[in-house]
Amino acid sequence: YRAWEVKKVRTTCPHCATGCQMDLLVKNNRIVGVDPADGPSNRGLLCVKGKFGSYKFIHSGDRLTHPLIKRDGKFEKASWDEALDLIASRFTEIRKKYGADANAGFSCSRAPNEDNYIFQKMMRAAFGTNNVDNCARVCHSASVHGLATTLGSGAMTNPIRDITEDVDLILLIGSNPTEAHPVVGTQIRQAIRRGTQIIVVDPRKIDLVKDAVIHMPIKAGTNIAFANAMIHVILGEGLADMDYIRERTEGYEELAEIVKDYTPEKVAEICHIDAEDIRKAARMYARAKKAPIIYCLGVTEHSTGTEGVMSLSNLAMVVGKIGKSGCGINPLRGQNNVQGACDMGCMPYDFPGYQKVANKEVREKFERAWGVPLSETTGLMSTQVLPEAIEGKIKGLYIFGEDPMVTDPDTGHVAKSLESLDFLVVQELFMTETAQYADVILPGTSYGEKEGTFSNTERRVQRVRKAVTLEGEMRLDTDIFYDVMNRMGYSCEKKTAAEIMDEIASVTPAFGGISFERLDRGETLQWPCLDKESKGTYIMHVGKFSRGLGYFYPAKYRPSKELPDNEYPFMMVTGRMLYHYNTRAMTGRTEGLNEICGDSYIEINQGDAAMLGIRDGDKVKVSSRRGEIESRAVVGDKMMPSEVFMTFHFADGNVNKITNFVIDDIARIPEYKVCAVSVKRA
Ligand code: SF4
Repeated sequence: YRAWEVKKVRTTCPHCATGCQMDLLVKNNRIVGVDPADGPSNRGLLCVKGKFGSYKFIHSGDRLTHPLIKRDGKFEKASWDEALDLIASRFTEIRKKYGADANAGFSCSRAPNEDNYIFQKMMRAAFGTNNVDNCARVCHSASVHGLATTLGSGAMTNPIRDITEDVDLILLIGSNPTEAHPVVGTQIRQAIRRGTQIIVVDPRKIDLVKDAVIHMPIKAGTNIAFANAMIHVILGEGLADMDYIRERTEGYEELAEIVKDYTPEKVAEICHIDAEDIRKAARMYARAKKAPIIYCLGVTEHSTGTEGVMSLSNLAMVVGKIGKSGCGINPLRGQNNVQGACDMGCMPYDFPGYQKVANKEVREKFERAWGVPLSETTGLMSTQVLPEAIEGKIKGLYIFGEDPMVTDPDTGHVAKSLESLDFLVVQELFMTETAQYADVILPGTSYGEKEGTFSNTERRVQRVRKAVTLEGEMRLDTDIFYDVMNRMGYSCEKKTAAEIMDEIASVTPAFGGISFERLDRGETLQWPCLDKESKGTYIMHVGKFSRGLGYFYPAKYRPSKELPDNEYPFMMVTGRMLYHYNTRAMTGRTEGLNEICGDSYIEINQGDAAMLGIRDGDKVKVSSRRGEIESRAVVGDKMMPSEVFMTFHFADGNVNKITNFVIDDIARIPEYKVCAVSVKRA
């Protein structure tokens, strides 16, 4: 195309939660390319997914374009009226027969805030249940719970720019930004070139290990022991910020008592790392003036994930590093709008803005705003909904833009859950593994076809703009939810995305000052943004924690639920890779990305591979107690002996057929990061 032939539409990347700004290049109602734009979190950078993997899928020939109803086991084209009438009548029937809490909904962490707000409103106001969740449950719910408990807010404390520009030391734990948040990874590398030091705590030799002053290849699942040992050294060597602890926190004595046991020598054995490295890292972290903790799913996706997050929060607080520039505790959220889906109340215990369902005043406020009585029963989390479907307690499920048949652990149990339902609706862009189980499938719309906002990992609300018009019979996702609500007897008028944001602002104090008008004027707003005069909040917990005093949660190390044994001798860790995103619904429709990597692989240590007679590129069988998959061996030294790594992007060789469905007691997040497997040549 020639530059003058295309229209540029400024929007936000639909992949990870870095929230890169970019221009979609549009010609004849088709997106033909992407240019990077200078946004606050990406500063003119885009990664390969944003540049090449963010538009071809929109025009893919296999998009769902009209409703489908399953009849005699086969999907048949249906009219909107037919499909919507069936949806409303079946969910209403289930509600009448089994009660409102027999229905549940999973919202979409990839969809804009406005879609998520209306989805949870539909579940609460029209379905009458708080059984609404989103896929943060399986990635960062541990951060939301953990940081809300210790600090009062579950979000990243400092912005990306603040923790990558002009900092002395980065403590990177269980996060591989080079592949999972590549533009953050690039900014970290730029900081390293300017003199920032980095300590990497990760079982895998990730790319940033090359630049690390210390790499601790920690045994997966031992983060709590590690954090407690760091605190042990800091307290023992008088490196704690006692004024900060006295003035701004509570619970210190109990924490100090607990960490006495966690000597570096003892923890070195638990974590398979060097005791001297722990001492050196603790001293460096405590003494550095500007030193953020950056972490990701290597901390959260464990059966002790929430306590793992809280133990990192303890670590940052003992050295007084929260509420300050260049510091803080910073979970890099996964999907583009997983922060927003949580902010918008797609959680069973929170209305929008983390206002509690259990709080009577809050509930009454929403009842007044929405004009309908609301349930006071806290809903079920998604990892509870699926087992409860098998038990016959959940009968109806509405899945908007999620594919748990690929993304949830132990997909055999997901299949059983979906088969147990009386009625399943899936609203999606494409026919997915999950959609195959649906009774009704509705065509969803992509970020390029609608207006809205995404909230990135640093709490920044940014615009999503319509670049192309919807084709054929397709409808906006929010319009579909309005149609369902009206048919279920909750009458409401359709609103535009801008009007929905005004409604969000009217009921959500943290979003009180956010509007399309301000965002379209070029203002860039991070919540909390309480009113029209507020410029938003760059750094959280300055001077005072959101909960008042910061709370030291006394976390004790407990081993992962399934450890290697003679039958399954390898510990498997899962994670992301650079060229694809999640189930590849979007990136998998870009030929170039598939050519670089189009199939599942398993990284195995060269010593282990030699013992098993496996060469690089060989087909291998990977088994666990849940089943067996085939994959391709990548032999090298990225993984330590007896540990293997797989990505979760591929439906063929889907690693989640063999991951373990055990969940954390608090946030109910699954333990994707540790399970026992065996590997042999296929
Ligand atoms: Fe998109 Fe994330 Fe890449 Fe930025 S870093 S272009 S948001 S995938």
